[in-house]
Amino acid sequence: LVNILWLRRDLRLRDHAALYHALKSDRPVLPIFIYDRHILDKLENRQDRRMSFIYQALEAMQQELVTMGSSLAVYHGYPVEVFDKLLQQFDIGAVFTNHDYEPYAIERDALVGRLLSGAGVLMYTYKDQVIFEKNEVLKDDGKPYTVFTPYSRKWKTLLNDFYLRSYPDSVLYDRFYRQEAMALPSLAQIGFEWRGNDFPSKTWDLARMQQYGATRDFPAMDKGTSRLGVHLRFGTISIRELARTAKATSEVYLNELIWRDFYHAILWHFPQVGKGAAFKPEYDRIVWRNNEGEFTRWCQGLTGYPLVDAGMRELNATGYMHNRLRMITASFLCKHLLTDWRWGEAYFATQLLDFDLAANNGGWQWASSSGCDAAPYFRIFNPALQAEKFDKAQQYIEKWVPERNGFQYPPPIEQHELARQRALAAYALALK
Ligand code: FAD
Repeated sequence: LVNILWLRRDLRLRDHAALYHALKSDRPVLPIFIYDRHILDKLENRQDRRMSFIYQALEAMQQELVTMGSSLAVYHGYPVEVFDKLLQQFDIGAVFTNHDYEPYAIERDALVGRLLSGAGVLMYTYKDQVIFEKNEVLKDDGKPYTVFTPYSRKWKTLLNDFYLRSYPDSVLYDRFYRQEAMALPSLAQIGFEWRGNDFPSKTWDLARMQQYGATRDFPAMDKGTSRLGVHLRFGTISIRELARTAKATSEVYLNELIWRDFYHAILWHFPQVGKGAAFKPEYDRIVWRNNEGEFTRWCQGLTGYPLVDAGMRELNATGYMHNRLRMITASFLCKHLLTDWRWGEAYFATQLLDFDLAANNGGWQWASSSGCDAAPYFRIFNPALQAEKFDKAQQYIEKWVPERNGFQYPPPIEQHELARQRALAAYALALK
């Protein structure tokens, strides 16, 4: 009899809820990962950076498991079919896994759960990805929060050491299922190409975290923000450990982690936002211009607005974009170009290494003003003023748009004041 640990967005062997519970049970634990064809088949870029990230995270876990006489089992297929085969191959005691709050994942887990229960196998699931989930932070009337500040206040009053404590699993590591090391499928075997492993570090020093409040808005600074997004996304670091450090070090940083919980809770309570609906339905009445040529220029970083172009070029070149630039480029697309925020959301989803449905959707709906607790629609970023404030020495712009003063650089795609007036009129019309 074996217990299966099903890894998804929690690719680590430390401080891991499902792993802890699986190891505590009385059966050997077989860790598995499935390259899910439902997800992979939709990825158009065969060199998607995230595939390389996942590959190297699995490899790191494999090295550790092999030293313990165990091995990861990695599959490529549709989860229900993979579990169907596992049921034939193993005498499975139970399956352990961590919660995933995305609409697709909820459906997937229900299907797998149904298959397993048909075979008399239970699937145990745990909170691991966030500090508070689902109904843990609710208003006094029992309804979910839709505004961040009161949510974060309640979040903080509920917080105590229990929620930040790490799971002590290493003492149980002798309970992994003993087996020969299995070869991990190469990226080529699942139809992708290696893109290199130039990923942000898993650690960020405390001195920088202390300074975060003062440095976080300046994109030219090398380590002004933590760049831990991708590690939180794939669970290569533990949120409990990070939040514990943040609580002791920087309230501003802790607040960002609360935003992360908040958007996960929004997606959980209002799953329609993850399926293309505006959080505020009246914003779906906006008549977008949706000019494809302009959208392409925005994607390529050729709008003629140096700060906007710098952000988009950073994204295209590295898979990362600084938060301030995410806000500016998103606002520019929705408001200056009056392009449906869903187009931008989809583009970011293909490019961001730290892409996360809940946070990305939250960010886009914030920028387009259609979201919960969004910026009021009449607040429209002025890229030139933003550059003056946050990139005064033009270091960031210089890095990504060195040719901006030359004749090859395109003139602004739209004149700022005209674009602003046009956006205000379109929004006012939709909302009247
Ligand atoms: P830091 O500033 O060091 O923050 C630490 C961590 O806190 C981040 O890694 C992230 O996990 C969390 N965090 C910070 N800000 C937010 C926020 N506003 N919402 C939710 N979590 C936050 N974040 C993603 O993780 N994935 C996305 O796909 C994503 N898309 C975005 C799209 C738009 C249009 C906008 C405006 C924001 C988006 N964000 C997204 C939020 C934020 O920009 C990134 O989390 C942040 O820039 C990642 O860089 P960092 O790790 O250096 O962040």
